[in-house]
Amino acid sequence: MELLIEGLCKTYANGVKALDHVSLHIPTGMFGLLGPNGAGKSTLMRILATLQEADAGTAKLGEIDVLKDKEAVRRTLGYLPQEFGVYPKVNALEMLDHIALLKGVTVKRERKELVEALLHRVNLWDQRKRRLSGFSGGMKQRFGIAQSLIGEPKLIIVDEPTAGLDPGERNRFYNLLTEIGENVVVILSTHIVQDVKELCSNMAIINKGKVLYAGPPDDSLRAMQGRVWEKRIPKSELEGYAASGKLISNRLVAGVPVIHLLDEERPAEGFVSVEPSLEDVFFGAINRSNGQTAAQ
Ligand code: ADP
Repeated sequence: MELLIEGLCKTYANGVKALDHVSLHIPTGMFGLLGPNGAGKSTLMRILATLQEADAGTAKLGEIDVLKDKEAVRRTLGYLPQEFGVYPKVNALEMLDHIALLKGVTVKRERKELVEALLHRVNLWDQRKRRLSGFSGGMKQRFGIAQSLIGEPKLIIVDEPTAGLDPGERNRFYNLLTEIGENVVVILSTHIVQDVKELCSNMAIINKGKVLYAGPPDDSLRAMQGRVWEKRIPKSELEGYAASGKLISNRLVAGVPVIHLLDEERPAEGFVSVEPSLEDVFFGAINRSNGQTAAQ
């Protein structure tokens, strides 16, 4: 199964071009859709989840025309939206049972087996009688995955799933996604580079509705090999480097700015060549597309 997106466009009524001829080939496995806030990720996810109309373009999931045959998509889709509304007074077991019923698992015995298996799978069995309102962020996300798995979907879309999770919760969520990503298309939309680094065999970087890079993360790293330079600098020099058009990133280490520049040759005395990271790839691509070197 493959998801083929060609020339997808979406302009909102206020004139914002959220998707500008987006084309992506997404194979089975974990695919990271990486972009800053406002890049167009949620718009793309909502269109693929049949919740919103595109202006132009096509999307095919295997034989299914995603933009036209919405019913067929819904039958094979698992969607974990950015904001997952939950009923506060209901416990996890009751809620999952209810969603399974809505999704067409009408035989009581089958539903019981399914719900119990899912609760075990996402490691919420011990919490099954607890009200969803008392769940932590990570538990809510794992519950969200459980509900998205009902109906054995071939396409799973998770929109910004790790925002707000603490490192432990994030790790548990990563493990769960890795397990389910083996045989289905999983699209993980995120602005967190670490999510893609840890999970995804393929990715795309998007900004302002345009695809800036698509391919394996490793290829993007190779393309930057030998061109990333690092130096600790006094704060007063930061502006000059930002104006140079070569600045990829700037972070503080113990209060001192450490910058990365992208250059074919050593930019100046004191710069050392470093292994490119996915952050370098991401911020480099975003800064180039913004036509500036906004320090990150
Ligand atoms: P992301 O998920 O990457 O943060 P979105 O798809 O939510 O990006 O938004 C892309 C752009 O479209 C942003 O500039 C956003 O402000 C705009 N946008 C999103 N939804 C709407 C809407 N319903 N009406 C008008 N503009 C919107």
